[in-house]
Amino acid sequence: MMKDNGIRHLYVHVPFCRTICFYCDFCRTVYTEQTAAKWLDALEQELFLKDIRVPQETVYIGGGTPTCLMPEQLDRLLGMLDKYCGENCEYTIEVNPETMTEEKAEILARHGINRASIGYQTSDEKMLRLMNRHHIAGDVRRTMELLRSRGIDNLSLDIMYSLPGQTLEDLQKSVMDALDMEPSHLSLYSLTIEEHTVFAKRGYQPCDEELEADMYEWIVRTLEARGYEQYEISNFARDGLYSKHNTAYWEYRNFHGVSMGASGKASGFRYDNTKDLKAYLSDPLKREIIPLSETDEMFEMVMMGLRMKHGMSLKRFEECFGRSFVSVYEKQLEKLTGLNMIVLDDGHVRCTTEGYEILNTVLEEFLD
Ligand code: SF4
Repeated sequence: MMKDNGIRHLYVHVPFCRTICFYCDFCRTVYTEQTAAKWLDALEQELFLKDIRVPQETVYIGGGTPTCLMPEQLDRLLGMLDKYCGENCEYTIEVNPETMTEEKAEILARHGINRASIGYQTSDEKMLRLMNRHHIAGDVRRTMELLRSRGIDNLSLDIMYSLPGQTLEDLQKSVMDALDMEPSHLSLYSLTIEEHTVFAKRGYQPCDEELEADMYEWIVRTLEARGYEQYEISNFARDGLYSKHNTAYWEYRNFHGVSMGASGKASGFRYDNTKDLKAYLSDPLKREIIPLSETDEMFEMVMMGLRMKHGMSLKRFEECFGRSFVSVYEKQLEKLTGLNMIVLDDGHVRCTTEGYEILNTVLEEFLD
């Protein structure tokens, strides 16, 4: 079983949204004040019952839409989490621009939030309506101003591409509009149409693969030219402001996941908390445990690590499993280095530029 010293990363899932985006298959439900109040009671109980070390190195409040809570509820949520967030904690919250107000920005700052991940998606208003999102690019700008005025200036924007009917020029405009707002970090995800979403029911399709590849190539080239370092396959940061919380996932560290719909990881298993609101309210510890063999954990560490530009630490692999990466994956290493897809470099195994372009194919080799 993998060794990992303590758990220092906490994910908290807020399962409410004001409206539901037509492409979304996350664990979320439409917000009502009463349901959110009951959910807060259950969360308080879950935190009380769980043994979570204080303080954590990173705390990430995601969703759903955490900022759709009423100000008093947001204050209560953050009050419950105060003790987990020490002085040097990276404390992130996901923000939906249509739900941000001065009062909420003030609450976030008061509780020490120091990073926000904002759902921008695109600046194309027609596309936003098609996605059933109820903000415009101006709301994102206003949200960033509100947060910055309270000293929260590590701001990331989420952008989606390969949207139905989107052209390369549309995507370029969206990205350039985002860059005008000078975020410190950008996450770019291509749309996948998931079963049971409104997009799937309406028969929408993402862009064709060739256009999607052109979009990705343009994104990487443009962002790097504008001073954003690609440090992970979908993530870019200025001034080294990587997401520490997400980096913990990519380094395959153990983490707590609290609230309904959250997942967590400990040595030897992963768990998925119930996605059923009623079940969560009656038993906030209800979860499914997925055991992981050592082979599973080794593969997952490689899979996550190779997503990062600098790759996976060989030292960490050996510390976790008591065996070297080179001895476990000798065959794959020989084949993939021979094909110039991966290299051992500076204590890490990482993809070459060619390997990074076909990351999934490289990872398949490690499945054997
Ligand atoms: S805001 Fe996020 S979680 Fe909520 S419906 Fe939209 S995509 Fe899903």
